[in-house]
Amino acid sequence: MQYHLNGFEPGDPSVQDPGSRVAPSGSAGPVPDDVDVLIVGCGPAGLVLAAQLSGFPGLRVCIVEQKPGRLLMGQADGVACRSMEMFHAFGFSDQVLREAYWVNETTFWQPDPSRPDAIARSGRVQDVEDGLSEMPHVILSQARVHDFLLDVMRRAATPMEPFYGRRLVSLDVPADVSAPVMVTLEQGEGQRETVRARYVVGCDGARSTVRRSIGRSLQGDSANQLWGVMDVLAVTDFPDFRFKSIIKAPDGGSIVLIPREGGYMVRLYVELGMLAAGERAADRNITVAALIEAAQRVFRPYALDVREVAWWSVYEIGQRVCDRFDDVPDRADHPPRVFIAGDACHTHSPKAGQGMNVSMQDSFNLGWKLAGVLQGRYAPEFLHSYSAERQAIAARLIAFDREWASLLSAAAKGLPGPDGNPVTSADVQRYFVQHGRYTAGTATQYEASLLTLDGPDQVLAQGFQIGTRFHSAPVVRMGDARWMQLGQVAQADGRWRLYAFEDADGTALRGLMAFLADDPSSPLRRFTPADADIDALFDVRAVLQHAGANTALASLPALLYPSKGRLGLRDFEKAFRVAPGHDIFAMRQVDRVRGCVVVVRPDQYVATVLPLDAHARLAEYFERFMLAVG
Ligand code: FAD
Repeated sequence: MQYHLNGFEPGDPSVQDPGSRVAPSGSAGPVPDDVDVLIVGCGPAGLVLAAQLSGFPGLRVCIVEQKPGRLLMGQADGVACRSMEMFHAFGFSDQVLREAYWVNETTFWQPDPSRPDAIARSGRVQDVEDGLSEMPHVILSQARVHDFLLDVMRRAATPMEPFYGRRLVSLDVPADVSAPVMVTLEQGEGQRETVRARYVVGCDGARSTVRRSIGRSLQGDSANQLWGVMDVLAVTDFPDFRFKSIIKAPDGGSIVLIPREGGYMVRLYVELGMLAAGERAADRNITVAALIEAAQRVFRPYALDVREVAWWSVYEIGQRVCDRFDDVPDRADHPPRVFIAGDACHTHSPKAGQGMNVSMQDSFNLGWKLAGVLQGRYAPEFLHSYSAERQAIAARLIAFDREWASLLSAAAKGLPGPDGNPVTSADVQRYFVQHGRYTAGTATQYEASLLTLDGPDQVLAQGFQIGTRFHSAPVVRMGDARWMQLGQVAQADGRWRLYAFEDADGTALRGLMAFLADDPSSPLRRFTPADADIDALFDVRAVLQHAGANTALASLPALLYPSKGRLGLRDFEKAFRVAPGHDIFAMRQVDRVRGCVVVVRPDQYVATVLPLDAHARLAEYFERFMLAVG
């Protein structure tokens, strides 16, 4: 799609009338005074959480934002492969794929050895390793990501609109854990509203009031990196203007050029050095004219004639993280009631494009857990797992980013690396691949815990690493011969997925299906409400090794061809066969003799891999944290 030719216009580019591109957003009237969950902040973290929770009927959820309306431009723009996988589960990845710029190759520019005051291209690499994800790495304005999430909320089971112009001013968490959290909001000039909330989630950004109210602080570098960033429409003879380019100029200046959606606009990140402790970006009085001049110096000998600046900002960022992402004091073990997510609990250098992506993954981790506790599926203690899982990931990402930066600088200067040994090109290459996985969001791996059941059976499916996100692969749906990605059956609906891979003769697969359908200890029997569809909580799917085009669904176990809904209609979409030329068993190293069952959490992470006949262990896994229906 090409758009923004005659100047930047916010909103949906497929709507021809610029005046109608931005759909109205926001709830009128007072904020409800009693809610299950109050979300503070309409950034990517808050909106993912709101979008997820809006899918559960009966939950009373409210999201407030201090700004007067929705974001229209600016802030982050990198959407990692992993975020695209999540967007698919929310149902809007197709729209993002259509609108966004796809980052397929990255080019590198350095001082030209033959012309000391000019730059020359020094390299070109594929941006995302082959096979890392079925989704590309794309670039799209954070504002559009917000729009899609607002749409999900609007169309959901419990439709929701943000309350804009509400600033959280205070938060009182009573010592009595059964009492609600009391929140005071301010609207306009001193008009106050009070909200009682069972849970409060602070998605209120790097200067989070919620974080301060629960006595947490960001730890890490005291000095901040200063960045100038601008989205521009410009005329240039620089040949890689539609490639992500990392440009280092002879005078030490540098730019990261990110082509933007629509085919004309680009984002230029201009690194402006470090701020002293306590110094703020505003203290430097940097103007957009100065940023353009700095960019023009870096591009020499190529011309950069900026015709329009759609958005610009100068902002500071340090790499910091909180020690916990909830309100539970050290050594206390009562369930958490207040959480922080996104920039409120970790901040990253924009170089790796992590801010928006990691923030959304935080609240995707939290959403299904909160919904499950509120619906009585999990005990409130289950919520400890949010901080435990996400704090470890954020700390690891920041440590990795620092290590990567110091490794690169050591390699450039011929110095020893962090382990004291000289940095070799093999070290850099290994880190480059790892770094690519980390920026793609696919390097996240949760450690063994209540939810992540590590063990010897990983060997049955090495390509579905326990603790990592389910790595999709193509299959053919048996009911209608449709080629599709197996991972894309997952929706952001709080359900567990059990993917069964058939054993050599199918005996163990049939045994598992019979256990799941009929045994009193089966998680499906124990936890699914009697009046609900058989897949209401556990979505069981199977990939058959030996099935062909003529295998009848009616010959499969009933769980793979279930009757559902008010009319008892058959579900034709539970069973798959191997896609010709894309054998999922080979691609994900699934044991062809024994098969296996891969248990996948509602946020798409592999909880465990078990033998098909490990019925008791499968049942025990869910007994660890699920509450039986009463
Ligand atoms: P945010 O997106 O910061 O959202 C927090 C929201 O909470 C805000 O809307 C805020 O108004 C609201 N809020 C705060 N306090 C309160 C309160 N007391 N009551 C009610 N509401 C409150 N990242 C990049 O990768 N590239 C960039 O170029 C880039 N530019 C940025 C420019 C700016 C000005 C900012 C602020 C951030 C930028 N980022 C950039 C960072 C990126 O946008 C964040 O990492 C990402 O948005 C984090 O999402 P979040 O939901 O955690 O927080």
